[in-house]
Amino acid sequence: MGVRTWIEGWPVYRQLTGTDPLGRGAAAQSERSKTLTARTETADRVAKSVCPYCAVGCGQRIFVKDEQIVQIEGDPDSPVSRGRLCPKGSASLSLVTSDRRQRHVLYRRPYATEWERLDLETAMDMIADRVLAARDATWEDRDDQNRPLRRTLSFLLRPRVAVPLWLTVLILWHVPAMYDAALRHPAVHRAEHLSFVVVGALVWTLLIDPARHGRLTLNERLGLAIVLFWIGQVLAYPFVFGFEPYYDVYVDQPHRLFGLSPLADQKLAGLVMMIEQSATLGAAIVVLLLLARRARAGRGVTPELV
Ligand code: SF4
Repeated sequence: MGVRTWIEGWPVYRQLTGTDPLGRGAAAQSERSKTLTARTETADRVAKSVCPYCAVGCGQRIFVKDEQIVQIEGDPDSPVSRGRLCPKGSASLSLVTSDRRQRHVLYRRPYATEWERLDLETAMDMIADRVLAARDATWEDRDDQNRPLRRTLSFLLRPRVAVPLWLTVLILWHVPAMYDAALRHPAVHRAEHLSFVVVGALVWTLLIDPARHGRLTLNERLGLAIVLFWIGQVLAYPFVFGFEPYYDVYVDQPHRLFGLSPLADQKLAGLVMMIEQSATLGAAIVVLLLLARRARAGRGVTPELV
């Protein structure tokens, strides 16, 4: 190796004399690293798949060369993961190519001490048989009086649960101690908003019935909308017609929005509540009235829902 070749092989020299003064590109490359290419560039084809590890179901791109898997990466087209994989998913290549991978179904019979090999079809049949047997033995979709069972959280959608919950949450967070606590502590504030969203979703699900579950007839939904509207208006009255401000945080507030006194601010808030209730529940009442009218005229709405 000549002196010139030796000097030119020195990255600092290339950095000082070449086009890469920061040494982050060509100056830092060795002869070997210049010739390296990513496995994904030399693949013959790319197959799309889903990560087998967990139920998230991240999308994967499987790079194949000479009918061998050479790399597995995240699929940017996947709406679930948008190109990302967790460390486990990123290691999928080892899962499928490792020579320690188990390639046969192994089964250990009850009380046996040894594993035996099964063919895949037999194993799948055995699994299906057990799933069906467990389902037949334990599934319950009717109670002993043949009423349909609606388990999990659907009890929250019963009107006699959802409406009192909605009312309780609405009143609770307007109690001065709770209201002030929400304004002073961010975690309480988040809990307040979360509870509003949850109970709001419950009563509006009853009103709109998006899944056409038919928990309430059309007339009952109309009645519920009127009751909610009436409750909302009554709850706003103490703010609109009150004689003193209820919340210390607003009373102690040194900067007054538009120069409003705490009492005027509170009355305005009550008015906003009334207007908001009128706009939302009022619109619901109008829509339900129109639906009821159409149903009575025999058009468009399932009669048994009325
Ligand atoms: S990449 Fe990770 S998070 Fe995504 S499916 Fe696989 S194991 Fe689950």
